[in-house]
Amino acid sequence: MKASPEAQLRLLELADLDTELTRLDHRRRSLPEAAQLEQVQARMSELRDGVVLADTELGDLAREQTRAERDVEQVRARIDRDRARLDGGQVAAARELSNLQSEIESLQRRQSDLEEVVLEAMERREAAQSRRDALTAEQAKLGEQEEELAAKRDAALEEIDGQAAKAQTGRSAVAADVPADVLALYDKLRDQHGVGAAMLRRGRCEGCHLTLHTVDLNRIRAAAPDDVLRCEECRRILVRTAESGL
Ligand SMILES: [Zn+2]
Repeated sequence: MKASPEAQLRLLELADLDTELTRLDHRRRSLPEAAQLEQVQARMSELRDGVVLADTELGDLAREQTRAERDVEQVRARIDRDRARLDGGQVAAARELSNLQSEIESLQRRQSDLEEVVLEAMERREAAQSRRDALTAEQAKLGEQEEELAAKRDAALEEIDGQAAKAQTGRSAVAADVPADVLALYDKLRDQHGVGAAMLRRGRCEGCHLTLHTVDLNRIRAAAPDDVLRCEECRRILVRTAESGL
């Protein structure tokens, strides 16, 4: 495989641009803002569930309170009726009087119990309401954070996309200077190793960082300038420069 020394040097530019594109791609997928946003969104989802639960509880407690209040009213009305009979002097028989009095006492106990139920329901409603208030306050706070993080993430993505577009344009221009078969080999090696070409610097391959054997160096010295060489260790295209130490 042949390529002019100039075209071979372009491979090193290509490798730099590809490294840059890989770095940008990694940054795009590991934005801290995106991770934070996910956390906030997960919490927001919990909060929404919490509010739904609190609303259900508040509804249940309101019904419980209304029912107990209605029962209190019924018991109170019954007591009033019994008292009216008692005070009206319609009941004369001692047995009936005593029955009526004990019924009033029992109704009063019942009323007191029901009033307890009403009070308890009210207290539980208050507690549920303040829980709900705390949840919605957190929702409001996190909602702002969510917006801020989404804006930051979008700005970061826009910046990355801009840099990637620039690198991509540069890559196309550089790739146009490389013979098609060499470019195809470079791309295949890039798929396999992440980097397709490396510089030979002071007798060392910059791809695998191994120093070449004298035998290999001699082989490289003997090669024509337009021969496309490969590192014996990592198989990347090895590009000779003035710093190669040949
Ligand atoms: Zn190597």
